[in-house]
Amino acid sequence: STHNPSLFSRGWSRWMAVPLWMQILVGMALGIVVGVGLGESATILKPIGTIFVNTIKMLIVPLVFCSLIVGVTSMQDTAKMGRIGFKSFAFYMATTSVAISIGLIIGYVMQPGAGLNLESVSTQSAVKEAPSIMETLINIVPTNPVAALASGQILQVIVFAVALGVALVLIGERGKPAIAVFESLAEAMFKLTDMVMKLAPYGVFGLMAWVAGEYGLDMLLPLMKVIVAVYVGCFLHIVGFYSATLALLGKLNPIHFFKGISNAIVVAYTTSSSAGSLPASMKCANDLGVHKKISSFVLPLGTTINMDGTALYQGVTALFVAQAFGVDLTWVDYITIILTGTLASIGTAGVPGAGLVMLTLVLTTVGLPLEGVAIIAGIDRILDMARTTVNVCGDLAATTIIARSENELNVDQYHADVKTKNED
Ligand code: ASP
Repeated sequence: STHNPSLFSRGWSRWMAVPLWMQILVGMALGIVVGVGLGESATILKPIGTIFVNTIKMLIVPLVFCSLIVGVTSMQDTAKMGRIGFKSFAFYMATTSVAISIGLIIGYVMQPGAGLNLESVSTQSAVKEAPSIMETLINIVPTNPVAALASGQILQVIVFAVALGVALVLIGERGKPAIAVFESLAEAMFKLTDMVMKLAPYGVFGLMAWVAGEYGLDMLLPLMKVIVAVYVGCFLHIVGFYSATLALLGKLNPIHFFKGISNAIVVAYTTSSSAGSLPASMKCANDLGVHKKISSFVLPLGTTINMDGTALYQGVTALFVAQAFGVDLTWVDYITIILTGTLASIGTAGVPGAGLVMLTLVLTTVGLPLEGVAIIAGIDRILDMARTTVNVCGDLAATTIIARSENELNVDQYHADVKTKNED
């Protein structure tokens, strides 16, 4: 019996020597096996995942706030700031419309809804109202910054942090003490992110067990085609489109990029929240050699407005609904889907299930039956995992390319062996 503790501690120290990304993959694989084995009762494991999700959510507001202030105050050059803002916005919009076009092409080629022959009873359905674009734009300036921080309104937090950062620079010497405080807090938040990420393997295990247990195979089969279509589209967008943009625009080898962001990918996939993945993304960008003054601005902005995966999903599912209900779409409808889908994705919050709410906006605009939303709802978590992964990869690709174009990417570090970086 004296062997047991030492056996356990030997096992534990061996486990701790495994690189984090591999630990996370093990957690994921075990979660699926256990979830499929336990079925519905795997829900009892969900709290492990929830605790992990809560822990990363805890980081978001202070991390974004402090690191954005530090980012702004370290950017002496205001012309540069404006340029980065413009580049981010242009890049985000362009990639989103490419994403939704890929979604439409996939939906057209794969015909995921063909043969379902559903009939629309009514076009009214009890779905939550999606917030309008105008509302999103008007609410961008917080009336009360503390309320914005307290309720985690990331766009409002961005606006206030940028404004405060600019003011701190403008008052010169007298701004220095406050800047030093934010620098120290930002550093601490990065350390805390590091610590929290060590919990990821266990949280991921709980989340995967719950998802795998909840959606057994019988539930998935009839809608398998739409799942496959969304996954194929997401895969093509990540591996094809982002690799191409990294190589062509950034002159960077994409393989290093994907190795470097693997932790953020797993967190995005398992939590289905790009806002929740922000701390992991920040750390990955940092490890890739992106300067914090770029990542602290471009990443939180992307998390709120850049949703390539959500746009792609809206393209595929809009066509799925049209096919399933036998509605013929004209080319005007396709263009309408691209425009509303791009706008809807800007208004989508980076939380699980938000894209489903915005789907109502797209379906309504082109007059497709809203019952489609109810059908998609049953499998939405599975689709959400894939689209959130694309959302997060898109933010990171943009951040890396913009950093590169601003000479704020440490190219040597980018090309360094990622394994040693993960092992701390
Ligand atoms: N869950 C997605 C995200 O956080 C948003 C969506 O539902 O499309 O990025």
